[in-house]
Order: sequence, then C-alpha cells, then structure tokens
Amino acid sequence: MSALAILNNVFGHKEFRGMQEEIINHVLNGGSAFALMPTGGGKSLCYQIPALIMDGVTIVISPLIALMQNQVASLNKIGINALYLGSNLEQYEVSGVFAAFKKKQVKLLYVTPERLCNPWFISFLQSIKVSLFAIDEAHCVSHWGHDFRPEYKKINQLIKYFPNIPRLALTATADNYTKVDIKHHIGLTNALEFTASFLRENIVYLVYEKVDGKRQLIEFISLHQNLCGIVYCSTRTKVEEISTFLQNNGYPAIPYHAGLDVKIKENNNYYFLQSNYAIIVATVAFGLGIDKHNVRYVYHFDMPRSIDLFYQESGRAGRDGAIAYSVVSFGFKEILELKRMIAESESGHLKKKYELSKLKSMVEYCDTIYCRTQALLGSMGEKFGVCGKCDNCVNPPNLAESTVLVQKILSAICQVGQNFSISHIIDILRGKNSPKVQTCDHHRLSVFGLCSETSSKDLRRNIRILFSMGVIEVDNLTGYLKLNDRSTNILRGMEYISLPQKRKAGYGGKLSI
Ligand code: ADP
Ligand code: ZN
Repeated sequence: MSALAILNNVFGHKEFRGMQEEIINHVLNGGSAFALMPTGGGKSLCYQIPALIMDGVTIVISPLIALMQNQVASLNKIGINALYLGSNLEQYEVSGVFAAFKKKQVKLLYVTPERLCNPWFISFLQSIKVSLFAIDEAHCVSHWGHDFRPEYKKINQLIKYFPNIPRLALTATADNYTKVDIKHHIGLTNALEFTASFLRENIVYLVYEKVDGKRQLIEFISLHQNLCGIVYCSTRTKVEEISTFLQNNGYPAIPYHAGLDVKIKENNNYYFLQSNYAIIVATVAFGLGIDKHNVRYVYHFDMPRSIDLFYQESGRAGRDGAIAYSVVSFGFKEILELKRMIAESESGHLKKKYELSKLKSMVEYCDTIYCRTQALLGSMGEKFGVCGKCDNCVNPPNLAESTVLVQKILSAICQVGQNFSISHIIDILRGKNSPKVQTCDHHRLSVFGLCSETSSKDLRRNIRILFSMGVIEVDNLTGYLKLNDRSTNILRGMEYISLPQKRKAGYGGKLSI
C-alpha cells in the first residue's frame, strides 16, 4: 500500500498535513532526518506510516510510559500491531513481547530510553530486523531543554551499534542551542532537516495583567462553561487551592501534581482524558505528550518561566483544529521571583543566561502591545504578520504620552543610588513615610511625594512595563531597580516615551466557541 493509501484507509485522514509527506518519503528512501513540528502537527504519522510500509520493526523511543500506552492503544484499536516495553513491565510481559516478535507480527515497538542501554536489549535488536529508529520528544536529549532526560543521551549508543539504520528525531521545541545538541547526540549532523511553521491558527492568545487572579479566572471560565480546559499553576499548593476554589464555585475541577498519590493521579488523568467538560488544575508535571483533542483552553494562572514552555503548554489547546484559547495571567512579583530563582539555581553561568533570556522573551510576550501570535512566533525566529484574533489585535491598548511620569520614576531610582527595590521606590514617589524611608532619610529627596496622585498599583504596573520595554533593569538576586542607557536618554529629555493604558474590558465581550 502507498503512504497515501495508508493515510486514507488505515488512519482515516484525507490528506497529509504540512511536511508529513516529505518526511515520510525521505524516510522511505532510507534517509535520516530531524523534524521540528509544532505540537499537534502530526509527528507520529511521520514514523508510523513508514513503519507499516518498511520491512522489519520501527523502534520508537519515547520518554513517558503514559505516552507510549496511549499511542500503542490507539494503534491497536485500528488494527496495527504495536507494543511497548516500559520499565514498568513485568518479566513475563517482556517475554510476551519477544514471543510476539518471533511470530513477526510487530511493526512498531515503543521503548523508554532506559531500555536502550541494556546489553540484552541491544543484542535483542541485533537479532531482529530494525527498519527505523524514531526518537520522539527528541529535545529531551539536550540539557538546554526544559525536559532534559539524562537517559536520552544513551541514544548515541544506537549510532555505534546500528550506524546504517535511519534515525528520525522529532520534537516540537528546539531553538538553535537545542537543535545543535539534538543533532550532535543523535548523530544527525548531516541529516536533512524539516521545519514546519509553528503557527497555531486556531489558538486565540490572551494575556491578563493579574489584578485579582481568582476573579479573573472565574470570569474567563464562566464564559467557557461545559468545556475542557487546563489551568496551570506554579506550585502544588496553588494547584490544590485553585482546584478547591473552582469546585466551591461549582466547576468540575480536579487537581494534578507530582505530589499526589499515584492512583489519584492516574484517576484524574483518566477522568480528564475521557471527559468533555472537566477542568484539570495542574503543575507542569501534567501534559507532556497528552493527546486530547478537545481541550478548549489552557489558562496559565501563573506566568510560565520560559517562552518555550509556554508554547508547548498552550499548544495543548485545540488539537482538533477548532477555536481554542491560551490565557496567561501575570504580575511583576512573579517575574521577579522567577528571575531570582534562576539566579540562585545551581545551573552554570551559560545556562542561567540562557534561562534568563527565555524568561525575558516570556515577559516581552506578556507586555507586548502588538500581535501576540507575531511575538510568540518571533521568539522562535519565525516571521509572521498579524493574527487578527488575539487581544492586542482585537482590542489594541491605547498609548499615552508618559515622559514626565517616567522621568520621575527614573529620578527616584537614580537618587537612591540604584540600591532599592520596587516597593521602596513606590513609597518614595507616593510620599509615604515608611520606617525604611525615615531611616534612609529618603523623605528629604526631591522626588519624595512627586507621584502622590498615582496609585501604588499603577506605579507598580508602569515600572513593570518599563522593565519589559528595556527602560529599567532589575538585579536578578536583589530585585534592586537599575538604570541603563535608555533610562539616561529619557532622563536627559533625549527620548520621549508613551505607555499603554489599562484595558477597559479584558477582551471586549463574550468569546464564542
Ligand atoms: P504531535 O505528536 O505532532 O503533537 P500527533 O501525531 O499526536 O501530533 O497528531 C495530532 C493529531 O492530529 C492526532 O489526533 C492525529 O490523528 C491528527 N493528525 C495527524 N495527521 C493528520 C492528517 N494528515 N490529517 C488529519 N489529522 C491528522
Ligand atoms: Zn494578533
């Protein structure tokens, strides 16, 4: 059967999507490749179809048992003989796998990377005919990536033992650093690369400035009742708090985080996958590789720490191609916390710099006044016009000339020697005689009380925006506000600056799905 006939008759899809056909043809011609495709882009078919056509068995390396189980179950359902070999299989089940091979029934064998380094597994592979190695979620091989799995490095043993068998690495997240790493570790330096557009046309991107996080969440969910959604929170405690809060408000919310009992996790995962209206409130532990089509929104209650993670997590919405929403609610406090966490982490200097740049892109995405889709794709190096659907496209923020206000803020930072954090600067500008202001004699400064008309919330918001715009720097560890060349220009009156005003309504009306 041809690739197209298999697509039509076995998988029930009319036509190939994006680069699927090119990748499949290349693999069928014996080529190795690196494929970068967005989540939901249809990576699996790129190796599943060749597996059915080629002689022998395709070995699929996958990081998660749950992921393998799902894939194998769906393949079995359509009559394809696939098996998985997770580390959780009992010895008798492993024997079953080998017995099946003896009868030459199996076309796809899914394995975890841990299996690969087993000498007996290598010799088993040598005793059968392997047609292709497909390495799913290939970014796990790179320590730059957020899902780094040391065992993935063992994949390079394959090159040693099976130099002539084609390898297909697939991932949805890879910037240049990660890409180079993947190619190096999987021996694909000279292999063909297929890069699909990362545009998710059906996702509407919205960002909320966190004012009253819970109220904003409820407001959004009340507009999307009886639909499936994922709400991501940064900590386990918050997951518990928000899922209880939603339950108390009558919504079918269930929690998911790594601290829950295995059985509860399994049940909640299963319940969510089956449901048409459940809301799962989760840490990022939830979702890698889930194949649920009707997730109608992914709501980040807390801002993700990197733009890549955000892309991956928000991409779990709308895999069926119908309209879906990505919402992020964010505030300055969490940005500062994330900066500090990265600065205090054990990572080396380069890695910290890299993580800080990923965080910066995330902050820029949240505070951009231009098209969000453009900002998101731009952060991945892809040029894009405007989507016409995101909050900034539909309801662009008004800009107001704010040079004098900004000069006051910058002067305050300057007058305290750039050695104080945001709350203290706000106290000075608002003329608040706090004990710290008194102790430091800061009530004598010329900027003291210069912004008494502006609320501290608004000052905080403006300082955050100035930070996102690159007009103010923040020390990663201390949180002290600092000046840079741009601030100096503005202080000297050499540059005028306008700031976006608060939106009246979140998005401007009810969202229809
Ligand atoms: P990825 O691994 O890239 O996230 P999957 O391989 O899981 O994506 O595919 C996502 C969904 O798209 C699956 O439900 C799959 O059945 C569907 N799909 C894949 N290719 C096609 C196609 N050519 N036409 C229609 N649906 C497709
Ligand atoms: Zn837009």
